[in-house]
Amino acid sequence: MSHHRGTLNEFGGVLEEVGAEIGHLVDVVVNAITHHGGGVPWVQRALALIPDAIKHSQHGPALAAAITELATAVSRAEAHRSKNQVFTDADVKAVSAAAAKLAALVPSIDLSVGALDTPDERVETLLFDSANLLARVGAGRPLHEGFYDPVSNVWHNWSLELAVYPNEYRAPEPPTLPAAATAAGGSEPATARTPSGHLKSDVYAPVVAAVESSFAVRTVGAGHSFNGGPSLGGSREQRAGTLVSLDHYNRVTPLEASVVEQRFAWLGAERAARVCHIEAGARLRDVTRRLWDLGLAFACQGSTDAQSIGGLISSDLHGTGNQHAFLSEALIELTLVTGAGRIVTLTRQSDAGHWRTDEAPPRELRWLPAAGAIGMLGIVVDCLAVLVPRYNLEVQFTYMARREVEAQLAALVASNDHVSFYYPGGVPLSRIETVRMHRWSVTDKHPTWLAPTLHLISELSDHVVAAFAPNIFFDAVGEHGIATDPLTKALNDLQQPLVLPAPVAYPRKLYYRHDEDEWAVPFDRFLPALHAVLVRPRSATGLLLLARSFVRSLTIISTIPRTRARAAVR
Ligand SMILES: Cc1cc2nc3c(=O)[nH]c(=O)nc-3n(C[C@H](O)[C@H](O)[C@H](O)COP(=O)(O)OP(=O)(O)OC[C@H]3O[C@@H](n4cnc5c(N)ncnc54)[C@H](O)[C@@H]3O)c2cc1C
Repeated sequence: MSHHRGTLNEFGGVLEEVGAEIGHLVDVVVNAITHHGGGVPWVQRALALIPDAIKHSQHGPALAAAITELATAVSRAEAHRSKNQVFTDADVKAVSAAAAKLAALVPSIDLSVGALDTPDERVETLLFDSANLLARVGAGRPLHEGFYDPVSNVWHNWSLELAVYPNEYRAPEPPTLPAAATAAGGSEPATARTPSGHLKSDVYAPVVAAVESSFAVRTVGAGHSFNGGPSLGGSREQRAGTLVSLDHYNRVTPLEASVVEQRFAWLGAERAARVCHIEAGARLRDVTRRLWDLGLAFACQGSTDAQSIGGLISSDLHGTGNQHAFLSEALIELTLVTGAGRIVTLTRQSDAGHWRTDEAPPRELRWLPAAGAIGMLGIVVDCLAVLVPRYNLEVQFTYMARREVEAQLAALVASNDHVSFYYPGGVPLSRIETVRMHRWSVTDKHPTWLAPTLHLISELSDHVVAAFAPNIFFDAVGEHGIATDPLTKALNDLQQPLVLPAPVAYPRKLYYRHDEDEWAVPFDRFLPALHAVLVRPRSATGLLLLARSFVRSLTIISTIPRTRARAAVR
């Protein structure tokens, strides 16, 4: 009998070989075991990680049984390895056989329309999307934010798919302070005061108090993200920690250029005149409206605008522009309340992005660690951002021949400020004739009086099609050539370019429930990555794209230097 020395990663290798078609599901099992250790609960955890759409489908029970068998085999093998330092032949055989069984199951899955959704899910989602649509039309605002329900003491994200069960929910309010006598004249460093001249230790004292009186703290912004980021790990039965919201810290204050120049000489006079102090609870839509009134705008736009500035920094909003990649590029200062209740300000020292903390002694950092840290370094309470002069964007949605788009991809990215391509998903590449292109470019033109109405119509029709008839793209357009198909031609004629202010042009105001899977790949790998999914629609990601009763998008963001290009496959 031969023995195999190794780790679970090697098993992962064996599993992947055997189950290439189901690599993702196998990874899920192996990761669950690797991260959660032995014992019965990891089987449940592994099962919990299988996409709901598959788990709740008619194929769910068979898949669950096969995965349980695989997980059991891997666990047994791992137990042997930790005892004897080796995997036995029998272990490898058992794991391979279980993986092969799982692999054999996958092609038999019936992926006809709606096969992966339960009727309950369909009804709930249609109701949710309808309510969102009515709210947008009737009340002028979408139901697009998370919210806290004080009666049940539960916080929900915007899509109602994530619930957080804290012990306590706190939304501290800024104290009313007397006008600051020492706007700039105190002995403290400049980083210790807000633009109003008040000490940050006074302004943020309620946030510090919330942190100091709690054992475990998570911060929540607009609840616009779709994962468990804001969760404290509690449940209805066993609540955990304190959920802090900065909703009341939402002020936007322009800074005097001379004050900025004094502190940030490297910025130069022009940029120093475009700096604002923004509190983290402010919503992007409110910030951009205020900035517009000040003649300013963010260079990097979000694809919707309900998020909080703190949440955007913590998830480091990426755009799709060919010049500006992340929101954090605009930041020159940021204040954190750490888990120990200390107030720490990080200040950018140069264009190259060198940062310094105001701790004693200061820490020197090559980048801003709080950007993209999803709150792990503390609560982001405010920032200083360098804005750009406000600008209009020309927006155009066009149906184009797929082959033409792919042949001209680099040129299309270079000639537009933002560009996205929408491919129908879950169909073989060879059948995709037409894709939709969205592009936004900075323009000197101004919006016409009709532009807001046309924009609303375009937004609402997008919602109606995506939420209630997502197959229309593929069935009516994707498979037909634009040269011959009268519908595609008519759609192109209808969709004339529209000029809008940047903060309105780029973010969508309305959203329907959807699944999204986002990948970042180097630009030169963009088409191969996209084709890999489309050529093999039965791959793990393709499985989800095939279930066409709801919108599911696979977003591939590709990077070329300082550039984000985006393509989405429904
Ligand atoms: C339809 C849709 C489109 C999207 N488009 C984009 C896009 O174009 N670009 C992009 O980058 N992202 C996008 N996202 C992702 C999402 O917008 C970001 O994760 C987002 O910016 C979250 O902001 P929020 O205020 O809603 O934060 P939340 O969802 O409330 O929180 C997000 C995370 O940040 C932490 N956090 C929140 N506030 C703070 C704070 N003050 N201090 C410390 N931590 C904090 C939370 O604990 C959590 O981990 C999209 C999401 C959806 C649903």
